[in-house]
Amino acid sequence: MYNAAEIQQVAVIGAGDMGHGIAEVALLAGYRVHLYDIKQEYLDRGVKRIHDSLAKLAEKGKIDADTHERSRQLLHPTTDLSEAVSAAQFVIEAVPEVLKIKQEVFQKLDQLAPETAILGTNTSNMSISDIASVTRRPERVVGVHFFNPVVLMKLVEVIRGEKTTEETMQTACEVCRKLGKEPIRVEKDVPSFIVNRINAPIRVFLGAVVDAGEATPEEIDAMVRDAGEPMGPFELLDYVGLDITYDSMDYRRQVLDPEYGPFEALEKLVKAGHLGKKTGQGFYDWSNGRPAIDLSKKTDVISFRDIQFVKLNEATKLIEQGVSNAKDIDRAMVLGTGDRVGPIEACKDVPPEEIAERLDELASRYRKAILQPTALLRTGGYR
Ligand code: NAD
Repeated sequence: MYNAAEIQQVAVIGAGDMGHGIAEVALLAGYRVHLYDIKQEYLDRGVKRIHDSLAKLAEKGKIDADTHERSRQLLHPTTDLSEAVSAAQFVIEAVPEVLKIKQEVFQKLDQLAPETAILGTNTSNMSISDIASVTRRPERVVGVHFFNPVVLMKLVEVIRGEKTTEETMQTACEVCRKLGKEPIRVEKDVPSFIVNRINAPIRVFLGAVVDAGEATPEEIDAMVRDAGEPMGPFELLDYVGLDITYDSMDYRRQVLDPEYGPFEALEKLVKAGHLGKKTGQGFYDWSNGRPAIDLSKKTDVISFRDIQFVKLNEATKLIEQGVSNAKDIDRAMVLGTGDRVGPIEACKDVPPEEIAERLDELASRYRKAILQPTALLRTGGYR
């Protein structure tokens, strides 16, 4: 087992949106980085994105010429997995969010990487323990969940699988700090960890409002934008890709509770191949760039406060289960989303009884037991 100071060589598996970004920040931190993908063309695309991004950083004066050149030199792209990982001390996997693919990759990584190497996964939702279970070293498998775009976003959720040791957690956090990131520890392997988990019931809640015909996505987005947020929740779903949200909701439906599953309006769009910005159509028409949202249309059926209450309630589930604490949750939400304050801070002046009463009302109106207030919320013990 290595401590962070001994780690010099990193391997990144998958050169897509996340993998190329993770490789880039590792290069900037001075690590020798092997980047692997299954096909030369995917690898070439990832390498080009790294080169372009480094050039932009240099152009803007964010890195000097030496760092630019050194980062390029330290990159070793390869389509040979053994070459990528045989001398790596820290491996980060960023392949598609499909458990079977991740498990196949981890089985190979376990065979090819040094016995002492730490194997990290950038999964957004999936069980670290399930991924680790196919290896002979589950104690050295850890979640390292970066946010998109990696170069800009400071947060990394470092997730403890059932068998991950404290030493592995600490080394992973230290490596993330070296990459210029702020690691937040997730002490239990729960579906979707902190940020994606706290946002999960928001999708369920707002989806139920839309499915009930009480407000349109535009009316909800207008209300959220009017509250000062840079982007409405449905515009954000379109921006990220409706298939991605559908798959994560479907995963939570299977492993957490059926109520977390995809809502009707989302399902309809995905089935019709309307996946948001990338296909030009989703909840909005994207053919003219960003959709124009008419702020005068804002709904008064639900409020921005309701959204904050639902997030707070989900946060209390994580505190109750010992996954994280109030301070770390608020920090993770600020770093990982566009939220200006975390859910606990946002609701600190509202009496818990008032929040609980409203959540009870929403849970019964939309017939969603997952919106019911937790015991911790009712007592106000989260503050
Ligand atoms: P992507 O589709 O952009 O990239 C995935 C890459 O993996 C592709 O280049 C693909 O060719 C490659 N690949 C496929 N099978 C492979 C295999 N067997 N071995 C090696 N490489 C293989 O996906 P992405 O958005 O970078 O997501 C990667 C992971 O990061 C997923 O688990 C995702 O949930 C997670 N994640 C994504 C985001 C995001 O906003 N995109 C944010 C956080 C975490």
